[in-house]
Amino acid sequence: MAQSISFSEQVNRYFDTAAALTDHNDLLLEVIQRCNGVYKMIFPLKRDDGSIEIIEAWRAEHSHHKQPTKGGIRYSIGVNQDEVMALSALMTYKCAIVDVPFGGAKGGIKINRANYSQAELERITRRYTFELAKKNFIGPGIDVPAPDYGTGAAEMSWIADTFMAMNSGMVDALGCVTGKPIAQGGIRGRTEATGRGVFYGIREACSYADDMAKLGLEPGVVGKTVVIQGFGNVGSYAARFLHEAGAKIVAIAEWDGAIHNEDGLDIPALIAHREATGSITGFPNATFIANSLDALELECDVLVPAALENQITAENAPRIKARIIAEAANGPTTFDGSQILDAAGKLVIPDAYLNAGGVVVSYFEWLKNLSHVRFGRLEKRFEERAYRGLLQAIESGGSRRFTEQEADLLAHGATEEDLVESGLEDIMVDSYQQIRNIYLTNDGCPNLRTAAFISAINKIVRCYEELGIFP
Ligand code: GLU
Repeated sequence: MAQSISFSEQVNRYFDTAAALTDHNDLLLEVIQRCNGVYKMIFPLKRDDGSIEIIEAWRAEHSHHKQPTKGGIRYSIGVNQDEVMALSALMTYKCAIVDVPFGGAKGGIKINRANYSQAELERITRRYTFELAKKNFIGPGIDVPAPDYGTGAAEMSWIADTFMAMNSGMVDALGCVTGKPIAQGGIRGRTEATGRGVFYGIREACSYADDMAKLGLEPGVVGKTVVIQGFGNVGSYAARFLHEAGAKIVAIAEWDGAIHNEDGLDIPALIAHREATGSITGFPNATFIANSLDALELECDVLVPAALENQITAENAPRIKARIIAEAANGPTTFDGSQILDAAGKLVIPDAYLNAGGVVVSYFEWLKNLSHVRFGRLEKRFEERAYRGLLQAIESGGSRRFTEQEADLLAHGATEEDLVESGLEDIMVDSYQQIRNIYLTNDGCPNLRTAAFISAINKIVRCYEELGIFP
């Protein structure tokens, strides 16, 4: 039986597999692989009932080859130092794969957020921010947190507010964190960004007829059967976009059980049901599966793990029936599990590429904060006027007149939302093509994950070479 190794060690094994296929200096590879810094904090929390509790938290900055460093903050009882370090390494590789100019970082607070009131969560978040600021672990040019498992826009707005209170007059202070509410410097499209990116990545992978034929599948997402593990921010938006594009979501697994319907689940209705009841269980027209992990083994074309790490292991990998494993979570497949999937000829779309939509749109938000202007604000009306002029010129050339609806569509100047979506789509498509090409042209490259790591390593090496540190 495979012995269990730490999450960091798993990520390192993936890195080593790729590094062995490059001819870079070994010492440089080690510099890239190792985590630059970890800050562990212990601070007291005064609970609403007056009692005092000790809170444990971390922030890891994996690589400073580009600055600031970037990565989410997770609130989970499972948080530990190794997890935060492994996730920060994945952030470094993720940013390099999609050409977002950040080093990787990750933070975590070891709490189960369900056990705390809003006021307590606010005190924890503000104190955590204060601790980070005290040690120079946060700032628009230093390290920029974002949401992750168990956090969202509310936490990000407390972080921004605390940081700004400590740095009055710092003109770029809003860029100290991303994933903020729109009214506090956030950007339209950030909330759904990771799920949307997951959709673009799956759609791109499914668009190659040759690759699909090897899996015995037709090209395109239409009609593909999909199982999704996790119905949080990433899983629920991925489900929504896949459903809208014509895929059939046959099962959703959550921590409290899974629901299954081989004819497809009505995703908007499921989202409404979860909003009303707090859970996916009890959803009509679906079979309930008490052991949620069993859902990973259901018959389907695409399995989307969108929850936590270490879900597909050497133990359950042999029973997975999906032909495509689309890693929306960070680290959902262990190194040994991954080898079993490869041997079975499955297509794994790797996490560090597939879930990069979040950090891509975070990058757009950060740019917006530094430029102090909403995307599209300057050019929208100008574009509209120019397009209308073009339409009129075409019409006066004797061709038919455009209907009002057609003219509105064609002469529409780009809004912030349009630009975020198209920018994200472009990056997801382009990055997939980059890693697919590396996979196809590198002898001995076993899978897309290794190709994605090779892509990241080559870009980071180039950065060190340009810095002149390693000749
Ligand atoms: N937490 C997200 C991730 O794992 C987003 C990070 C960010 O936007 O900085 O990629």
